[in-house]
Amino acid sequence: MSNGNRQVLLAARPVGAPKPSDFRIEETPRPEPSAGEMLLRTLWLSLDPYMRGRMNDQASYADPVPLGGVMEGGTVSVVEASNHADYAVGDVVVGRAGWQEWAVSDGTGMRKVDPSGPLSASLGVLGMPGMTAYTGLLNIGQPKAGETVVVAGASGAVGSVVGQIAKIKGCRAVGIAGGPDKCAFTTDELGFDACIDHRAADMSEQLAAACPDGIDVYFENVGGPVLEAVFPLVNMWGRMPVCGMISHYNDTAPPAGPNLLPKAMMLILTRRLTLRGFIVSDYGSQLGDFLRDVGGWLAEGKMRTREDVLEGLDAAPQGLIGLLQGKNFGKLVVKVAEL
Ligand code: NDP
Repeated sequence: MSNGNRQVLLAARPVGAPKPSDFRIEETPRPEPSAGEMLLRTLWLSLDPYMRGRMNDQASYADPVPLGGVMEGGTVSVVEASNHADYAVGDVVVGRAGWQEWAVSDGTGMRKVDPSGPLSASLGVLGMPGMTAYTGLLNIGQPKAGETVVVAGASGAVGSVVGQIAKIKGCRAVGIAGGPDKCAFTTDELGFDACIDHRAADMSEQLAAACPDGIDVYFENVGGPVLEAVFPLVNMWGRMPVCGMISHYNDTAPPAGPNLLPKAMMLILTRRLTLRGFIVSDYGSQLGDFLRDVGGWLAEGKMRTREDVLEGLDAAPQGLIGLLQGKNFGKLVVKVAEL
């Protein structure tokens, strides 16, 4: 084993869609843990849409990655050396060690996970995306049995969990996804009642037909034409957890076409809609509830998950580029090393 540390750095701030030259792979010396720190070897790296925002030099809910800095990301790592009282060699931790093979940590934001479990699940259904689905749907969406819940990105990390929790709560779950294979997966494997391909020319009509009683909860992941198709179908007192707007993350200018904001605001007013944005960390105190419920549903076979696994750290840049084009099918993770 070399003493190096391969890292993926932010080489340039993308304009529009990121491209391979916006990333740079470098090998630096492996870091040494100081007093109170541990040395982590990365096993799994999560690729998530929010990473596109961190590449911009723009104030948001989190600071951008500095130019030349290591790309940020959630990881599963094994402790290889420890000067930390709470962590021993061999412990497996989930945290945010970034796009690199090795990292040191003082334990901030780290959580131990069972080394015998499927480790990558801690980045997906039992990690940040799963918790996003659980907290956003239950706290803001507040689905009730018999209601209709619609979610876009339905085969993805967040959307797949939203639809399955909606079913567990006795709702009609309607997905929106890119292409027939992803749609078939949500209905045939995950138990959604229907799924609409957002690339279909008659998406709006298909969505209306799939929601004969209107939409009570729309879990917003994408924005754009999907949101425009959903809005007129939302029922009185409807709720919209606003989780993500992935169709706009690469925008360089406002979308062409009419300004639909006044129409949307009129619908919010007259139908007494509740729209609320949230970031998963807002609900950090619900981690225990989330792990108990979703862990239980998985163990009982009431919930399923699908991963899209890339091999090796060097695959990460192209993986993120593809995620923003819908190329992933399921939770996108990178296998960096064996345990
Ligand atoms: P996914 O696993 O769903 O992957 C992203 C998917 O987005 C793609 O596969 C594609 O699916 C869809 N997509 C990409 N571009 C477009 C487009 N232009 N129009 C419509 N769909 C598009 O990602 P996640 O489940 O991790 O994330 C889903 C959303 O949740 C994102 O918006 C993300 O930013 C947000 N999020 C928010 C969090 C929060 O705390 N608020 C935390 C985690 C995620 P398809 O082929 O089906 O169109």
